[in-house]
Amino acid sequence: MRGQYEELSCPFCDKGKIQCWYIPGAISIKRSGARSLPGKFSKTKSSDVWIVKSGCNVCGKSLEEIEQKLKEEGII
Ligand SMILES: [Zn+2]
Repeated sequence: MRGQYEELSCPFCDKGKIQCWYIPGAISIKRSGARSLPGKFSKTKSSDVWIVKSGCNVCGKSLEEIEQKLKEEGII
């Protein structure tokens, strides 16, 4: 499985470390059809995937609460 471990700060207390699994979105590069613009490529990237693996052991928030908060804040 692709991806890597990342640690995010707890969005509630900012002290805890949240274990996450991060899977970067795949980038596909397409050459654009226009001949007048050589070397112009369009990149499309599928969105990154974050899987929260733990709650916060400092403030005691659960995995689900952490995940929801991180999504609300646009961090993941
Ligand atoms: Zn916390």
